[in-house]
Amino acid sequence: MPSVFGIPLIGFIQMVLGAVVLIFLGIKFLTRPKKNKKGELIINDVHIIIGDGTESNHQSIYIKNGVIAEVSAQPIQKKNVQVIDGTGKTLMPGLIDSHIHIQGGFSCHNEDESDIFLNEKMPQIFNENVLPYGITTIKDLDAPKHFIYKLRDKIRSGEMEGPELLIVGPNFTAPDGHPANTLGSNSKWARSEMAIEIDTPEQVSAGIKELKEAGVDFLKFTYQGGDYWYFDHKLTIRKIDKELMKQIIREGKENGLNSTAHVFYYDDVKELLEAGIYGIEHGILDRDIEPDDPIVALWKKSGARFVPTVNAMTYEKDTTRMAHSVHNLKVLYDAGIPIAMGTDNMFEQMTGEVEHKELAYYVEAGLTPMQAIVLATKNGAEHLGIAGRKGQVKVGMEADLILLDKNPVENISNIQFIDRVFLKGKAVYSQKPIQSFDIPDYTYPRDLISAEYASTDGKQCRTINYDRYESERIITQITFKDGEKWAEEEFTVDRSLSATKWVYKRPSDNTEINAVKENGVIKMTGSFKGKPQDKSFQIGEGLWYQMMDMCFPAFVNAKLDEILFYSIGTGDNRGAMSLGEFAAKKIGTEDVTVDDKTYSCVKISLVLTIFSWAWTGLFWVDTATGQLVQSGVKKGNKEKVEWQLKKLHYKK
Ligand SMILES: [Zn+2]
Repeated sequence: MPSVFGIPLIGFIQMVLGAVVLIFLGIKFLTRPKKNKKGELIINDVHIIIGDGTESNHQSIYIKNGVIAEVSAQPIQKKNVQVIDGTGKTLMPGLIDSHIHIQGGFSCHNEDESDIFLNEKMPQIFNENVLPYGITTIKDLDAPKHFIYKLRDKIRSGEMEGPELLIVGPNFTAPDGHPANTLGSNSKWARSEMAIEIDTPEQVSAGIKELKEAGVDFLKFTYQGGDYWYFDHKLTIRKIDKELMKQIIREGKENGLNSTAHVFYYDDVKELLEAGIYGIEHGILDRDIEPDDPIVALWKKSGARFVPTVNAMTYEKDTTRMAHSVHNLKVLYDAGIPIAMGTDNMFEQMTGEVEHKELAYYVEAGLTPMQAIVLATKNGAEHLGIAGRKGQVKVGMEADLILLDKNPVENISNIQFIDRVFLKGKAVYSQKPIQSFDIPDYTYPRDLISAEYASTDGKQCRTINYDRYESERIITQITFKDGEKWAEEEFTVDRSLSATKWVYKRPSDNTEINAVKENGVIKMTGSFKGKPQDKSFQIGEGLWYQMMDMCFPAFVNAKLDEILFYSIGTGDNRGAMSLGEFAAKKIGTEDVTVDDKTYSCVKISLVLTIFSWAWTGLFWVDTATGQLVQSGVKKGNKEKVEWQLKKLHYKK
């Protein structure tokens, strides 16, 4: 048998081939592109709001295993770690809301509905209503227990992504107290799930035992009696007996559970402070207190914490409560009472805009933006007993963070300009970049002055005036309902029909909105149904098609088949007074006959991108004149026409 160096030839060949393969694999391994390490992140050169009232510029931060591992004035470099350039951006702790209601018993009336809500709605609520607003820790008060215990377990086990959730379970109250008689009025099930109605010491003890076994974090009870407005119903609620109130606080403490109380009136707050309550929810809403009021000293001495819910006062029938809430907040703040942000937000119906508004109210009360931020970060963590790991941007703290495009210390409304949100270092929200589209300049048909449209049900019509477009870029629209003028709008637009200014008036329900686009931001002020509005929307180079269907002539004229655009909602739905993103698409051509006249049209479909499955609008635009001919909706395979062109007026 032939051999090489005493090794049989066949073995030698195998050895050489083996070595070549190993070397090849080795080179491949050493030169392959490196994947970034999971769970690690660097943000360089960022302005940091610590959470304790201080800030520092040009900092770099390294996050590892969900925790802030390093903060440095020098750029941090690590191999294979994702780096975010924080230049010009601000990093702050995630917001902590110490008073929210995820589910108020509105949409669920039994366990089955509750389970469906939990599994099908909650991920969407967290992803759309909560996390994008930078809310990373919440304390839920009195959601139905069947629901909230399961939700807590799902979040803690990592099965559902959501903010850290602390709970109280059901709320102690007197028989027929709040929330038994109020939120609980939606169903028997909600009533028994959200409230423990107590009238005897035995019932108190049994309730605390039940809640301790369920592993709640705190206790909550209602200490208010008398008249109570629940939406438009005036109810009478009963207050817990004073001795039972003391028993809850005392026995709760013995079982390691601190109590907070829902309270509205001065005298009740006084009794609670004297009884050693841990926290006051809502506060003194029946009068203004001054710094020398004895209750301020009593409060300070008691050490009780305070969770104001100023924004919630906008829903109160008694409008003086808002003024008292704002006034007393400042007095208590100046006295050094520990205050944590709470909003009463109902996430099943509202978004984190509520938390942003709450912060704005603190500033309106006289706090600086920085002081307001501390209430929602460090103070929130202290109130919830988690200050050792939350509420500040410091080494060792959990990386629940908000990265902002603008600095909220300069102006609290900048809190809306969120670029990214991190939960324990993981990005759970990142701002979608706004796309721009190339729409050529649009000119209306020569001598066109106005157009009239009517709804097919005969109830509405509208007139659009173009006569100021060439000279001033202004288009006006008047909508009539049942023959009466209902809404009046003036749009200042650019050549692609994208708005730069919008004035909307609907006197019947006190709506008057002014919105102006400047430097890529739409600033909207005025009032919506009598409620003051002050919002900003970052839109960059995106299309602001506030005229909606009246903008399609420009789109039809463009070579593009599909565009995204933005519009502020004015209806009654969740989108009211917020910016919606719409996708419009050319889906074909069709001849349309209206009042014996036939138009050759481009057909366009329209969806709201976040609810693309829920609604599709259809629009037919005349290719000859660029005018909208008719519009409607598509449900399943059925098309329904809702609006039609009635008349075009030309200069004679
Ligand atoms: Zn509440």
